[in-house]
Amino acid sequence: MSRVSDTVVVLRKRAYREQDALLLLFSQARGKLSAVARGARSPRGRLTAATEPLAVSRMELYQGRSTLFTVTEAELVSLNAGVRRDLMRTGRAAMLADVVDELTSDLDAAPAMYEALVAALEALAADRDPHPIFLHALWRLLAAAGLKPEFGRCQQCGAAWGNPPWFWRGGFGPVDRACRAAGDASLLPGALQWLSRMDAADATGTGASALGGVQAGAPVYAALDQLARDFLIYHLGRVPRAFRFWDAVAGVAASPPRPPGGPGTLGAPASDGVKGVRA
Ligand SMILES: [Zn+2]
Repeated sequence: MSRVSDTVVVLRKRAYREQDALLLLFSQARGKLSAVARGARSPRGRLTAATEPLAVSRMELYQGRSTLFTVTEAELVSLNAGVRRDLMRTGRAAMLADVVDELTSDLDAAPAMYEALVAALEALAADRDPHPIFLHALWRLLAAAGLKPEFGRCQQCGAAWGNPPWFWRGGFGPVDRACRAAGDASLLPGALQWLSRMDAADATGTGASALGGVQAGAPVYAALDQLARDFLIYHLGRVPRAFRFWDAVAGVAASPPRPPGGPGTLGAPASDGVKGVRA
């Protein structure tokens, strides 16, 4: 039996018994862990606010003989309320929380990933364009997991970038014309430029304020969404849960009007804007 005190991000909050909640927490010093918070779904519960999804809180936890922790005290550090301002922010923040869940193991500390997630939530909660913040934060999480390619040069031969065309290889990264192989997709020049500039920006600072500083137009973001998604699925072997939800939501938002009775596109990932990375 042990008592621990730690700062955590609430990755998920689920109903458990009458008014209790089952939490998936990402702790600064201990990594991912599951905990029960008694009364945390009651409107006036002592633990309710500090256990809201995507909140950062200081918690006292108790571990008995089971692997499940119990929250004994919780003090809100930041609710990140701005993240809930619109669906774009909420959805993207949920996707990042899901990626952290997928990339980490229980009770395996990942301090760089913790810092990246806290900075991402702070930036998404602010009144700035959430799209580049999300893309930038996603690559920071992948970097913290040791998966991110270096975008400054061809990933196969290491040569600095010459003139386009450039290509993207699924779970590997960008390659130049000399190294192109069958199956590599063409890469929108603006997308590689964005990724290289993001790398350069992170070389000078990794806080929340640097997130999303590199901006681009909608076609570049669509291409970046697609290649980040392909890269992630390649390494995880599946589509994270929150991404499937986002596909359904974005599919509704991005679909052109259809004649009544036409085929439905709800949940079709094609609306992500694949044109930027297809050969
Ligand atoms: Zn090359």
